[in-house]
Amino acid sequence: MRQPQLPRFRHQLQALAKPFPLLAGSLVKQYVICGKPRCRCERGEKHGPLYYLYWKEQGRSRSLYVPRAKVAELRRQIQNYRHLQKELARLVRRQLREWRRHLQEERR
Ligand SMILES: [Zn+2]
Repeated sequence: MRQPQLPRFRHQLQALAKPFPLLAGSLVKQYVICGKPRCRCERGEKHGPLYYLYWKEQGRSRSLYVPRAKVAELRRQIQNYRHLQKELARLVRRQLREWRRHLQEERR
């Protein structure tokens, strides 16, 4: 009887875990009012877009200003992480299917 493909799973996981920068969080574009008196932003011409990185730390939402020159790099790293999460979920679902098939065959 065919065993669930554990070695293959491990190999795929290693391939996924290649060292590339991973960043957990989301990039948010905002337009802001600076608060200076008589600034154009008070008349509706807000400053921006300004970019902020948002993430959760121990259940609390945190954020950090991101200079525009760094936006593309951060965005790429966030995409890396989301891609890895998706691939990992896919592998885990497939492994579950393998086990289900295997255990059902064994019962017969
Ligand atoms: Zn202003």
